[in-house]
Amino acid sequence: MIDYKALFKISYGLYIVCSGDKNMGNGFISNTVFQVTAEPVQFAACCNKQNFTCGIIEKTGVFSASVLHTNTASEIYGTFGYKSGRETNKLKGLNVMYGETGVPIILNDTIAFIECRVVNSIDLGTHIMFIGELVQSELFDDNKQPLTYAYYRSVKNGVAPKNAPTYVDPSKMEEKTRHESLERHQCVVCGYIYDDADESVPFKELPDDWTCPACGAEKCDFIKIT
Ligand code: FE
Repeated sequence: MIDYKALFKISYGLYIVCSGDKNMGNGFISNTVFQVTAEPVQFAACCNKQNFTCGIIEKTGVFSASVLHTNTASEIYGTFGYKSGRETNKLKGLNVMYGETGVPIILNDTIAFIECRVVNSIDLGTHIMFIGELVQSELFDDNKQPLTYAYYRSVKNGVAPKNAPTYVDPSKMEEKTRHESLERHQCVVCGYIYDDADESVPFKELPDDWTCPACGAEKCDFIKIT
């Protein structure tokens, strides 16, 4: 048997992976960035082939990963986790620096970053795993806690977008026993579910300026689900 709840016990960080250059840059939130060798220092980063950034990494051969902290603004999740660079310039208005390779590096809510040059890639079917050799790295803030996937799930109640390697189809999860008067509403932007059964205030009674705690979308972006 496969118990999908067991998969949630695997630990990850959450990072903004960026690629491109000054003319065209894009990024996405990734939980699959990890160091794979010490000598030389090499990192792996996994990217869905549908992601706009995937083609940019293939073309430019560079990527950066910004380490987010636990108080990262919801808009950052919204922009990099649930929007596509095909429709929006995700870097616009953000604090961006350009690395030695020319790759954009997001500085908003970033406590450290790595910059890598791709030396290998592995086709995993839905995803490509890029192996990059470290070009430069810097620690900006040693006091803030790096964001982990577990923190995002438990404190922010966040869910993985469909393109994430760790996405689990909700229909595969066990159904909860529910009280009829309690409703569930889902954010159409990021998939976050507001479940009256788990909250002190029913969704209907939330103020109009309430926003999605996972991605910052508006209350009207939620639809009732069964
Ligand atoms: Fe949302």
